[in-house]
Amino acid sequence: LLGEYGDDVNMPVYVVGGFVRDLLLGIENLDVDIVVEGDGLKFAEYAAKQIGAKMVPYEKFLTASLFFKDGFRIDIATARTEYYEKPAKLPMVDISTIKKDLYRRDFTINAMAIKLNPLAFGILFDFFQSRKDLKEGIIRVLHRLSFVEDPTRIIRAVRFEQRFGFHIEETTQEILTETLEGGYLEKVTGSRIRQEIEKILEEQSSLKAIRRLAELNILKHIFPKTYYTGVMDKKLVNMYNFFQKLGDIYKNYNKFYCVLRVLLEFYDENSLKEVARRYGIPKKFVEETKFSEKIVIPVKEMIHDKMLFSDIYKVLGKPSPETACYISAYLECDDQEYFYEYLKKVYETKLEKVSGEYVMKKYGIKAGPIIGKIMNELFCKKLDDMKIDEIFELERIIK
Ligand code: ATP
Repeated sequence: LLGEYGDDVNMPVYVVGGFVRDLLLGIENLDVDIVVEGDGLKFAEYAAKQIGAKMVPYEKFLTASLFFKDGFRIDIATARTEYYEKPAKLPMVDISTIKKDLYRRDFTINAMAIKLNPLAFGILFDFFQSRKDLKEGIIRVLHRLSFVEDPTRIIRAVRFEQRFGFHIEETTQEILTETLEGGYLEKVTGSRIRQEIEKILEEQSSLKAIRRLAELNILKHIFPKTYYTGVMDKKLVNMYNFFQKLGDIYKNYNKFYCVLRVLLEFYDENSLKEVARRYGIPKKFVEETKFSEKIVIPVKEMIHDKMLFSDIYKVLGKPSPETACYISAYLECDDQEYFYEYLKKVYETKLEKVSGEYVMKKYGIKAGPIIGKIMNELFCKKLDDMKIDEIFELERIIK
C-alpha cells in the first residue's frame, strides 16, 4: 500500500535498513523504516489519511511516525545526506536520493533498500555489496571517515557483530582502532554512549559483546580505569547466571547499573564520580557501590557458610537489585541458591501482628530509633523462624 501511496504523490518509496537486513537473514523484524525520495512529511501525511493512522511529524529532521490502532508503528524519513560540521557531533541534514541516504548509514549490512512502488515492487537496491557482506558475515563501514563522523558506530559494530555471530572486517577494524586511539569516542556525549551500551545489554549475546568491547580496547575509552581481567569476566558470568532468577524477586532492575557495579568496581571515589557525571548515573549509585564493595566479602563468606538469614540481614539488610546482583557476582552456583532463598525470605517476610504503633501504645515507648531497633529484632527472629508468635517474642525482646 505504501508504494501505491508513493505513486499517488509521485514519490519513490523504499523500506530500508535493519528491516531489509533481517528480511534477507530470515529474521522477524517489526521495526519498519521507510525512506521517501521527495517530501517525506507530505508523503506521511497522505499515507496516514489513506490508512487511518495517526501521524506525528518531526519537522526538523524531515521525518514522521505513523501510529496504528493496534500499536504498530512505521517511521518515515526523507532521503537525506548528512553533513558533519564537526566530528562526533550530530549531523546537519539535507534532502537527497536513496543512494546518498544509504551511504550515510553505519555498515554495509544496514545500507540496503527495497522499493515499494508497484512497478518496481520488491527490487533490492544494493549499492555497496551489502548482500555479499551479509552472506559472508562481515561488518564493514561504508567509508574511512565513518567512525570519525559518528564514533558511536564503534559500539554499534560490536553489537551487530556479536548479535549475528559476524566479524568486523579487517580494514574496518583498523579504522576502528585508529579512531579510538584518536580519542574520538571521548568527544561523544555520555548520554549517546550510554544509549549504545544499554542497547548492547538488551542483546542476548551481551556478555560476549562486553568481552569484545574489552578485547578491542573500546571499554578503556568508555571507562578509563577499568581493567578487564579474567577475574572480572568470571564475576560477570556469575552475575549473568543470577539475572535469570532476579525477576522473581524484583519487578524492575537496571541491567546497565548492575553490570557497572562490576565494571566500576574499586574505582577511587573521584574517578567513580567522574564516570557517574558523564553517564548520568545517580549519586545513590556511587554511595551504594562504595558500601557494597565493603561488605561483599563478609557477606559472601556468610552465605557460603550458610549462616542464619538474620545474621546476613544484619550486615546486608534488604539490598537493592543492583547490590543483590553485585553480591551474586561473587557467588558460585550453590551459594547463589542460598542467596536467592535469602532474598525471597527478606522480601516476603512481613510482621503481621506487631507494628511500631502497637509497640508504642502497649509499652508506652515514645517514637524514636528504639522502636526501629525493636521491630528490626523481631523481624530477624521471624526471618529465621516463620512460625514464631510475634506477641510472645516481642514480650521477650522488651524484657
Ligand atoms: P535493531 O535491529 O537493533 O533495531 P537496526 O539496524 O534497525 O537494528 P536502528 O538503531 O533501529 O538499528 O537503526 C535503523 C537504521 O538506521 C540502521 O539499520 C542504520 O541503517 C541506520 N543507523 C542507525 N544508527 C546509525 C548510526 N549511528 N550511523 C549511521 N546509520 C545509523
